[in-house]
Amino acid sequence: MNRIATYLKSLMLLELLAGMRLTLGYMFAPTYTVNYPFEKFPQSPRFRGLHALRRYPNGEERCIACKLCEAVCPALAITIDSEPRADGSRRTTRYDIDLFKCIYCGFCEESCPVDSIVETHIHEYHFEKRGENIVSKQQLLAIGDRFEDEIAQRRAADAAYR
Ligand code: SF4
Ligand code: SF4
Repeated sequence: MNRIATYLKSLMLLELLAGMRLTLGYMFAPTYTVNYPFEKFPQSPRFRGLHALRRYPNGEERCIACKLCEAVCPALAITIDSEPRADGSRRTTRYDIDLFKCIYCGFCEESCPVDSIVETHIHEYHFEKRGENIVSKQQLLAIGDRFEDEIAQRRAADAAYR
């Protein structure tokens, strides 16, 4: 009996019609395809993109070479050398991040006691030569200088949740 019912059902193409009904439903549903890069999704202030090193408003770099970020980095992407200055303060002489190793976890940002190393909104970047994946202290400071207003704004927007 079951076999007869199945045979009759297949003759009436019920499954095909059910599939076509589903397809027709999707033809009139709103589309969710984003026409990137011309259209973009809104980004959270917590977005973790390219890194930057920040300065205080007087121009002094924030980083005190405590190396917490280097210690906490699970990908061993950060390399820091430091030495004391003439005034007795300690500063980095080298601060490299290997962006091929980085997994953008944000631990470096979370661990920094002086809000020095941060991750910016920038995620559209590329490298053309071997070695460009290692960003130096000067490059990181330059990114920080360029985007400081935005970095401060985003951190302020997220401050209540930190
Ligand atoms: S985001 Fe994570 S993986 Fe990348 S440098 Fe910071 S701590 Fe390391
Ligand atoms: S960036 Fe922050 S956590 Fe890393 S060495 Fe400098 S002060 Fe310490």
